[in-house]
Amino acid sequence: MSGKSAVIIGSGPGGAAAAALLAHAGHRVTLLERNPFPGGKCSSLPRRGYVVDTGVHMFGRGPYGPFGAIDRILGCGPHWVAHRPSFTLNLSGRGKLEMASSVFHPLSALNFVKGHVRGWQKMEWLPTMARSLRHLGASGLARFAKGFHDPRHPLYSELQGVAVSEFFSPLSRSPDFLRTFHAQAMLTMALPWHRASMGEFAYILSSTMRAANLCYPRGGAGAIPAAYLSSLTRAGGEVRTGCEVRRIIVEGNRARGVVTMEGEHIPAHLVVSNAGLANTVELAGRENFPRDYLEKVDGAADSEAFIAVRFFLEGKIGSMRTPCLLHMPDLDPFRMFDYLENAKAPEDLFLFVTAPSMWDASLAPPGKDMLLVGAPAPSSLERRDSCDAVLDLAQEIALSLFPELKAATAEVERVSTPAVAALSGRRGGDCIGLAQEVGQDGVRRPSQSTPIQGLYLVGSDTGGRGIGTEMAADSALRLYYLLKG
Ligand SMILES: Cc1cc2nc3c(=O)[nH]c(=O)nc-3n(C[C@H](O)[C@H](O)[C@H](O)COP(=O)(O)OP(=O)(O)OC[C@H]3O[C@@H](n4cnc5c(N)ncnc54)[C@H](O)[C@@H]3O)c2cc1C
Repeated sequence: MSGKSAVIIGSGPGGAAAAALLAHAGHRVTLLERNPFPGGKCSSLPRRGYVVDTGVHMFGRGPYGPFGAIDRILGCGPHWVAHRPSFTLNLSGRGKLEMASSVFHPLSALNFVKGHVRGWQKMEWLPTMARSLRHLGASGLARFAKGFHDPRHPLYSELQGVAVSEFFSPLSRSPDFLRTFHAQAMLTMALPWHRASMGEFAYILSSTMRAANLCYPRGGAGAIPAAYLSSLTRAGGEVRTGCEVRRIIVEGNRARGVVTMEGEHIPAHLVVSNAGLANTVELAGRENFPRDYLEKVDGAADSEAFIAVRFFLEGKIGSMRTPCLLHMPDLDPFRMFDYLENAKAPEDLFLFVTAPSMWDASLAPPGKDMLLVGAPAPSSLERRDSCDAVLDLAQEIALSLFPELKAATAEVERVSTPAVAALSGRRGGDCIGLAQEVGQDGVRRPSQSTPIQGLYLVGSDTGGRGIGTEMAADSALRLYYLLKG
């Protein structure tokens, strides 16, 4: 593939990594990004001495996942920072448990036992084991355990088409057990468990548990795309921010380049789009795609959203002892995310809270701090009004969880779905991209090749596996190997 000209549309983690890899492979690469800054949903913006994560990020594997594989090819990449203990489990109204990345780490085991002894968590292990044995059989359980150690195990394909709820709900009657897995599906895939694919979820759980390395890049989430764009420019590639692609030029069923909003024609042998499946079809012209392809694109569903409240503080956030906290609501495990699908306001929320300066002190001015409080919300912009109630409640819960916020908060900022959509340029405020849901999982996910020759897709809509950014990075890696042949 050496020596071709390539245009990459978009600089999310998928686009930035693909651009760097293609330049590394010898292509002449130009990356065009519509925002004035790179990174898409995985950006960091400087603000009054803070480096603000435009999302609420934590990374499941860092150097041990697809980012690490890309870094080994490029010979460079972001610097990952881990923290121990890694996260706090706040069991609403009961107590807090600090955990390490690995469930087998003595700290996790000790706190796990503590949670049970104090009655904060009641997983009902014996009845759960008995039900699991009855439902899956001893060989089924053993197979599951084996699959957890082998990312290529056929289990992951067999579990495609099965919903996470379908898999876990017959295994236990413990609300704590069921709530844990429903919340995990939401945290990692931004989907309620009746939509989330068990095949994708099992892969996420096992790969994250094997890596046991919850981490964050030094310099903020945006340091990931920034590292790849530096690699791209070092390899002779060009990055243009504030440059939106208006049209992908298609002639004789082949992509020939792009036209920017300013009317500039940029010819290319390859066009790689990180703009998302639906946007890419519009950019290339619907008339250039077969009807059955358009039907699939039009019927594709995106993940739900995570929206956020950002607290900028005059002091340090002393009661946050780990860089991340998961607030588990004491709600019916089957109903806890119903508010995403109906208009009924929730009584409590699952929250994903981070204090990025606990990973990297340089992300906040000396003596100050920033707390990001993320909550699941409907991604459709038609439901944007319901986000206000979610953010109000998220803010209220945060104030009760972290008493010092009341006195120390200098400014509160809210990030709702329109702001997330503005970062990605997508039709909604989805957190991840194309939903990893039943019917859109495994081999049913769209291919990175398109019906138009020379036009490829990269990012969290196509090709990859894993959690959000890691799925986008995995997609870049797979595109690199696909084009390499
Ligand atoms: C609040 C929040 C929390 C999250 N938490 C996590 C987390 O903890 N862990 C995790 O791994 N992931 C997390 N994610 C998800 C993760 O950020 C996304 O899955 C990931 O960034 C998607 O990457 P991508 O490469 O597909 O593209 P995107 O990030 O969507 O970027 C696409 C880029 O293409 C550009 N573009 C679009 N159209 C055009 C055009 N016509 N011309 C030029 N440029 C164009 C956009 O401007 C954008 O920069 C979170 C996301 C949010 C919003």
